[in-house]
Amino acid sequence: MTAPNSAASDTPVTNRNILISGASVAGPVLAHWLRRFGFHPTIVERAPSPRKTGGHAVDLFGPAVEVTDHMGLLPQVQRLRTRTERLALATGSRGRPVDINVAALAGLLSDKHIEIMRDDLSVLLHESTGDTEYLFGDSISRMSQDDDGVSVTFESGPSRRFDLVVGADGLHSNVRSLAFGPESRYARFTGAYLAVYSLPNFLGLADTAHVYNTDGRVVAFYRAPAQDELRAIFLFRTGDPLDYHHRDVRHQKSLLRRHFEDVEWHVPRLLSELDAAESFYFDSITQIDMDAWSSGRVTLVGDAGYSPGPAVGGGTSLAMVGAYLLAGELKAANGDHVAGFAAYEDAVRPQVMNARAFGANAATTLVPRSVAHAWLTVQLSRLVNAAPRSLVRRLTGTRHGPILNTPLPRYE
Ligand SMILES: Cc1cc2nc3c(=O)[nH]c(=O)nc-3n(C[C@H](O)[C@H](O)[C@H](O)COP(=O)(O)OP(=O)(O)OC[C@H]3O[C@@H](n4cnc5c(N)ncnc54)[C@H](O)[C@@H]3O)c2cc1C
Repeated sequence: MTAPNSAASDTPVTNRNILISGASVAGPVLAHWLRRFGFHPTIVERAPSPRKTGGHAVDLFGPAVEVTDHMGLLPQVQRLRTRTERLALATGSRGRPVDINVAALAGLLSDKHIEIMRDDLSVLLHESTGDTEYLFGDSISRMSQDDDGVSVTFESGPSRRFDLVVGADGLHSNVRSLAFGPESRYARFTGAYLAVYSLPNFLGLADTAHVYNTDGRVVAFYRAPAQDELRAIFLFRTGDPLDYHHRDVRHQKSLLRRHFEDVEWHVPRLLSELDAAESFYFDSITQIDMDAWSSGRVTLVGDAGYSPGPAVGGGTSLAMVGAYLLAGELKAANGDHVAGFAAYEDAVRPQVMNARAFGANAATTLVPRSVAHAWLTVQLSRLVNAAPRSLVRRLTGTRHGPILNTPLPRYE
């Protein structure tokens, strides 16, 4: 890692014009810090407009809370937090659910934690990027780099030159495919699938999320506060990857129904809303496993480079911390991408390795292998309100939570 405020900081900054693909979490955090450090970021985002409030709940753990604080956004993020305070964890048709304190659970993973809806976070981050140029409803169709920069052609037609390009475009990154080759080379299937959709708040839920475990399957639902609606989340284990087209929502819904049709609890009610659900997400829980994230003038940040798997490994925190480190190391190297990208990779690698190990472990332990495993998980969860961190970390198989609680370098 380059020492912040190194002697190089007196020389002029090079490579100022930076194109970022993706405007969710990593993209706007990177743009915010690049602007602050004297660069000119431009963001291209495939969605036609900025995100609206909604999406799924995500976690900001220790270092990501620190980045949020340095960005001056902590009060707004605190105000928008989800306010889910309890988890009611159940298994089988009999027996009372175990009541788990969310703060105690999160405290076992990190010294600081805030849960927020991803799109609420994204809107705040977007607003913090000032006069950054946004190209909504567009995508990079071609890129070629030479010694002086990168020529980029957009789907909408025009071509432009940039000094550097950063892929912050998520698990199925377009920039990664263009610069590093097909996703299949880097995607590691964890053996589980994930589906999420919205439905009316039929139970009048406020601060309690409900979770149900059974063999090979987990179902949960919680309240999205801004819309007063529920998000239902389903995780299920399959031996092999499922065969479906990523745009065939009808088929995905039928796969989900087939995997949960014999589950009791609130599942029949949740599934009765499935056909009407507009915001439906379905994907494998897949990690992106790359040893290096830069190729010449192109680099990757967030899920694009190192997704630890959706919903299992603290991907949002990793995306925020990765974006902060990338901007900081570029600044510390005065825009020299060779030195800056190398220092960024060194700085983010320990975080990535930890989150990857945590995510892989969580994907196998969160979804029980059998009815007995489901029962055991519920019994063990009784410990959460009082257990020492070391015990839970041993049970989850990592020494740390999803993201290391190490102090971040300051670049200002
Ligand atoms: C259902 C679900 C539940 C999750 N739960 C949690 C959780 O509990 N805790 C947690 O920490 N994390 C969770 N995650 C993971 C978290 O959402 C991601 O790790 C995080 O959003 C990564 O941010 P990112 O900016 O790297 O990528 P993303 O948030 O995936 O954003 C990528 C952006 O790139 C855009 N894009 C895609 N393709 C292109 C293109 N060709 N051109 C231009 N733009 C493009 C997308 O529209 C999007 O705006 C969950 C994810 C899912 C899907």
